[in-house]
Amino acid sequence: MDTYKGVTVFGEITEGKLSSITRDLLGGGRTLADQLHEELSCLLFGHEVSGVAPEAIAYGADTVYVVEDAHLKDYQTDTYTPAVAEILKKILPRILLFGQNDIGRDLAPRLAFRLRTGLSTDCIDLNIDPESKLLQQTRPVYGGNALTTVMCQTLPQMATVRRKTMSSLVRDDTRKGTIITFTVIINPSTVRTKIVNRVKQESPGIKLEDAPVIVSGGRGIGGLDGFKLLEELAKLLRGAVGATRPPCDSGWVPATMQIGLTGKVVTPELYFAIAISGASQHLAGCFGAKTIVAINRDPEANIFNVAHFGAVGDWKQILPSFIEKVKEFGSK
Ligand SMILES: Cc1cc2nc3c(=O)[nH]c(=O)nc-3n(C[C@H](O)[C@H](O)[C@H](O)COP(=O)(O)OP(=O)(O)OC[C@H]3O[C@@H](n4cnc5c(N)ncnc54)[C@H](O)[C@@H]3O)c2cc1C
Repeated sequence: MDTYKGVTVFGEITEGKLSSITRDLLGGGRTLADQLHEELSCLLFGHEVSGVAPEAIAYGADTVYVVEDAHLKDYQTDTYTPAVAEILKKILPRILLFGQNDIGRDLAPRLAFRLRTGLSTDCIDLNIDPESKLLQQTRPVYGGNALTTVMCQTLPQMATVRRKTMSSLVRDDTRKGTIITFTVIINPSTVRTKIVNRVKQESPGIKLEDAPVIVSGGRGIGGLDGFKLLEELAKLLRGAVGATRPPCDSGWVPATMQIGLTGKVVTPELYFAIAISGASQHLAGCFGAKTIVAINRDPEANIFNVAHFGAVGDWKQILPSFIEKVKEFGSK
């Protein structure tokens, strides 16, 4: 058991730079590694990615393990799973962290199986238990209605971590670290899928996951026209527009705007829930918001049980005057 050491972050690269989730994980991982008096390392897999390694050091890593291969250019389950597992069996981290995103959700459980260990998904807080030195992994359960903290007895202790629940360190290019390059043999015949096309979705304005303010609408908005008003408010507050499942299913807004259990998980400073009943599956995606403001004509709507501020009434009457007030403040 003693051969397992340190905290390792699975690094992701977006447009030639460390992705924001990786920077945040390095910040959180640094705290855990310091508590254990052990090293923090970062795995970088891809094609021609070694140039990003110094960035991982600048954001807190002591060691960066780089694996480069043309077959690793794009994330693919069949290439990444065996390659990452092979390296993990060499470096034996005590704690292994992934982002709670498409890659983390796909890769981490497969690795946990191969490494014969456990995995806590969608963690929102990680700490070291002072007595056992095991990782305390806190995650929402029952659609976000309760939190549970679990500890895993097998190593590595693996977790996927929700965006924005950890903070990145301030970049320090004077930090020193070690870069170690590994080679893996990838057998292309094991790859069962092929990327045939990439379609980049045009999404003007701020990304939902990064927005400090989100104006979300539910079934009660009634159609695309209503969402245009929500967009107006979001623009004024420099935020983004989100939705519950019914507006996405009805085609009023794209599915990428869905927030909730089967949609995006967001943690903005301010979340407007307009004509949203507050079903647990929706709350699972927004309960981490610092402040929730609800508008609903039903005073018994569950959303009022979680909202910090609420207005009971028809959003068609409340929202236009609210927007006018925001404009008034903005012009002062
Ligand atoms: C496995 C599973 C996964 C799911 N995943 C998700 C998910 O990821 N995200 C998600 O959102 N849902 C999800 N759902 C669906 C979820 O259970 C709810 O059905 C959905 O969140 C309800 O959306 P809503 O609040 O917009 O609609 P409703 O529950 O119909 O509520 C509409 C609300 O609008 C109010 N209203 C109507 N007109 C007005 C008006 N003029 N002014 C003010 N208020 C008004 C009503 O009082 C009501 O409270 C999932 C369900 C399942 C089973």
